[in-house]
Amino acid sequence: MRMTDVSAYKTVSPVPCDNKELIKAIDKLKKERNAIILSHYYQDGEIQDIADFVGDSLELSRKAAKTNADVIVFCGVHFMAETAKILSPDKVVLIPDIDAGCTLADDCPSDEFSRFKSKYPDHFVVSYINCTAKVKAQSDLICTSSNAVELINKIPLDQPILFAPDQNLGKWVEKKSKRQLILWPGSCIVHETFSEEALLKLKIQYPKAKIIAHPECQSNLLDLADFIGSTSKLLNHAQECEDDRFIVLTEPGIIHQMKIHMPSKHFHEVPGIDGCSCNACPYMRLNTLEKVLESLKTMKPEIEMEEDIRVKALKPIKLMLDMSS
Ligand code: SF4
Repeated sequence: MRMTDVSAYKTVSPVPCDNKELIKAIDKLKKERNAIILSHYYQDGEIQDIADFVGDSLELSRKAAKTNADVIVFCGVHFMAETAKILSPDKVVLIPDIDAGCTLADDCPSDEFSRFKSKYPDHFVVSYINCTAKVKAQSDLICTSSNAVELINKIPLDQPILFAPDQNLGKWVEKKSKRQLILWPGSCIVHETFSEEALLKLKIQYPKAKIIAHPECQSNLLDLADFIGSTSKLLNHAQECEDDRFIVLTEPGIIHQMKIHMPSKHFHEVPGIDGCSCNACPYMRLNTLEKVLESLKTMKPEIEMEEDIRVKALKPIKLMLDMSS
């Protein structure tokens, strides 16, 4: 796990217990600070509801790069807030809970990645945005699950590629692009946890339901999917197609937006193995309304990084934004 100094954010002062009061207080402080609240689709519904913008990693990166706000409160996990800081160095980037990490990012430490990379000196390094700034700084190109296949297809065929840190996404990209990649052996605990048995049971219960899946899922589950895509692509697909019932194979936070945009359609989340609730990302859920308010009050915890890392990490992100625009 990422070792982070949490000493700056140990004490949370009392906040109003009623959500309406909390939201009012957040709104007031947000205006005073000229702040914008960005939320990932995997946040709890109540956080998505107070956000100025809800999106996936790519959309949030673009929003962070363009905003005129002085402060970005990033309701997501650490690598996402870091990406916002890389793109907007002059802004204060706050994350409501500094411990909101990510197994994918944490399981690819920069020194180990550097040793891994040195075994493949001729390879072009494509890293999924779910990695730390230090790993981004060692990459040639960043991608998201929205644009990974599109970007890999733009790389000359004779150029060998190393892909990190998600091996499930990497295997799916290999299949779609028909190219072989060297894969860093990482994965997301949430997407690894979906139960094939539970999925099949749901399919038997709702035979007409379409299975829509995120490419971070394991290949045995992706083989059963009717549609595979990033969170925004899953949302758009469910909106655009005529089907009215879906089994959703990704973090269930996305279902909040699906229900808002498609109130007449039906969405079923897939439980984890043994029916556990580990299909919900425990890191995303560390952010709460109380912590959003506290971060606006104290202007902490703030994302900070060394300037040379930021500059190195910016290059492959900019390349992604240029190549995928
Ligand atoms: S759902 Fe997985 S990849 Fe996304 S933040 Fe949580 S642990 Fe990381």
